[in-house]
Amino acid sequence: MRVAVIGGGVVGCLTALYLHRLGAKPVVIERGRTGQESSWAGAGILCPIHPWLYPDSLSHFVDYSLNLYPALNRDLYHLTGMSIQWRKSGLMIPLFSDDRVNHQAQAIAWSQQFGWQLDLLNRQQAVDAEPTLSPEVDGALLWPEVGQVRNPRLLQAARKALELSGVEIREMCEVTSLLEAGGRATGLMLADGSSIEADAVLLAAGSWSGELAEQWGISLPVEPVKGQIVLLKDTPGKLAHIVKHDDAYLVPRVDGHILIGASMERVGFSKGNTEPVVNRLLEATWRMAPGLKDAEIVEQWMGFRPGTPDGLPYLGPVNGRPGLWVATGHYRNGVVLAPGTAELMSRWMMGEEPAVDVTGFRIDRPVYESAAVGFPDR
Ligand SMILES: Cc1cc2nc3c(=O)[nH]c(=O)nc-3n(C[C@H](O)[C@H](O)[C@H](O)COP(=O)(O)OP(=O)(O)OC[C@H]3O[C@@H](n4cnc5c(N)ncnc54)[C@H](O)[C@@H]3O)c2cc1C
Repeated sequence: MRVAVIGGGVVGCLTALYLHRLGAKPVVIERGRTGQESSWAGAGILCPIHPWLYPDSLSHFVDYSLNLYPALNRDLYHLTGMSIQWRKSGLMIPLFSDDRVNHQAQAIAWSQQFGWQLDLLNRQQAVDAEPTLSPEVDGALLWPEVGQVRNPRLLQAARKALELSGVEIREMCEVTSLLEAGGRATGLMLADGSSIEADAVLLAAGSWSGELAEQWGISLPVEPVKGQIVLLKDTPGKLAHIVKHDDAYLVPRVDGHILIGASMERVGFSKGNTEPVVNRLLEATWRMAPGLKDAEIVEQWMGFRPGTPDGLPYLGPVNGRPGLWVATGHYRNGVVLAPGTAELMSRWMMGEEPAVDVTGFRIDRPVYESAAVGFPDR
């Protein structure tokens, strides 16, 4: 079965790789270069921020996906020799007396329900675990099992794995329209006027999926939600855990880089970093972890998360359009959910029943805007 995958982000690349393993013939069609958009820009935290705010279906899907990470990590390494720096660095939420929102009760209940180890640290334990934290910290919640991956490397390794597996990658090729015949999707038209024939088409174009779907008469409310990131450099190990507080999170890499993320802006496809947001991220960092004040500020960037009104992805076939499938709208959780999405979608497209309950992710689910995890205010 030849599958035309639109989009060479983490969702498109991994799904193509998994389809290839099942004997399909995928072709990845990417407007720019693979892995350069949201999947490159993200922070690579392998757990949703505040997972208790989502319906349980998301946490079940997170479990399913995370269980596939060890094999993905191993397989990519064996195939490509590249390390994706997948590791369990733990995630800490420090608690301060003036916290705007205190999630403690929900965090404890969610961790018990989904079997995540949660350690409740007192003030001294919190400072011992993270010496750069403000001395005003009252304590902390610590999930030692939360992992991270260096997502640009995940994308490089996925691309290399596709190449080595002989999967066709068409870069600098923009999909413009869907070809249909006899009521079925039969391929795609490209901006250069050429076409690609396929037995099935998978829309995995990240933030641009909503626009493409609309052109094809499909309502798919996926919109870009811009996220800005600032990169610090300090001594390796200075920060041990991912640390999240009200307005920012910090993600330490093994080489001493620390990502500060991330804004949530509903500003369309407006590119570039802005001074007020960068300053807000830095101020939030210095407030929670003044021990990082001397860290060098080395870079800043942004990306467009494929946002959805309820914070959940859209997965599955498009009703009434045989041959057309969707895997998009992963919003803040595309890196966490990528292996799960690839496994689910590849098997589903090859004729198996979905292994997880996909009711909450179907394309025709009712649209509702949930302030907690959906779109931010404009
Ligand atoms: C600042 C920030 C922080 C984040 N942090 C995390 C995190 O810690 N953990 C986590 O799990 N997730 C995180 N995310 C979210 C995660 O990065 C995304 O959910 C995920 O990368 C989406 O992957 P994708 O493949 O759907 O989209 P993308 O990576 O955007 O890929 C879509 C691709 O489709 C291509 N395309 C679009 N239109 C066309 C067309 N017409 N023809 C051909 N190609 C086309 C684009 O060029 C692009 O390469 C973060 C995102 C941002 C921006």
